[in-house]
Amino acid sequence: MIRALILGGTADASLLAAEIARTRIEAVYSYGGRTRVPADQPLPTRIGGFGGASGLAEYIRRERITHVIDATHPFAAQMSRNAAEACAQTGTPLIALERAPWTRAPNDSWIEVADVNAAVAALPERPTKVFLAIGRQHIAPFAMRPQHAYTLRFVDPPEAPLPFAADVIVSRGPFRLDGELEMLRTRGTAWIVARNSGGVGARAKIDAARVLGLPVIMISRPKLPERLRVESVAEIMQWLGHPTRLGA
Ligand code: NAP
Repeated sequence: MIRALILGGTADASLLAAEIARTRIEAVYSYGGRTRVPADQPLPTRIGGFGGASGLAEYIRRERITHVIDATHPFAAQMSRNAAEACAQTGTPLIALERAPWTRAPNDSWIEVADVNAAVAALPERPTKVFLAIGRQHIAPFAMRPQHAYTLRFVDPPEAPLPFAADVIVSRGPFRLDGELEMLRTRGTAWIVARNSGGVGARAKIDAARVLGLPVIMISRPKLPERLRVESVAEIMQWLGHPTRLGA
């Protein structure tokens, strides 16, 4: 019998949970616990870290998990490393559900950088207005460039003081092009800093930057462990032995 563990926290993981809930496959959906009120799932859900790779290996054994699906965000590199290590330790089959990164279109003005510190260094010296479309745990290095006016967007209102003064938008995606154009225009945003997440829901800000001719400092994905990787829910269902007619 299959008992799957979905490492989630993404729109794709929610699509997968909905699909699995239509079958007799037993599955547990795991959230990291970063968001105060995570979206409801149609599967039993657990929240919070496992305690590193060894904690996850112990969880897999205790809960008799037979298959692990890493559907975390492509920048959740620690969780993906832990999943690879724990599955190797326990001999559990692992697959990653991971959207392809965005690619640069002809009218895009991207500066591609390796990490957050390189993104800080890529900003201009003269004061400008910047939309920082990155998670709150990554914003601190931008305090090194206090001359800029930053806009941040979070799912939850910040609980602790931010490392610098900023205009904070509290909103949960997915976002649409018209809304992103309006948000950028009303703020007079001149630069965008984004992570190359891929997928549709986060793409609207990149499309809006192209429409407005704004430069985007695009942070490349971290290196993830070698593992079986697919881009669609349908391929995961096939891997689980439940082919669907889903085109997703
Ligand atoms: P990370 O740096 O790779 O993970 C840090 C630690 O958080 C992990 O070592 C693990 O703790 C715990 N963790 C992360 N994901 C978990 C999960 N799904 N279930 C249980 N524990 C988890 O990850 P992150 O960048 O902080 O991201 C945290 C979560 O937010 C992930 O689930 C990710 O998919 C989601 N996320 C979503 C988006 C989005 O745009 N949808 C963006 C960023 C992050 P232990 O070592 O104690 O097990």
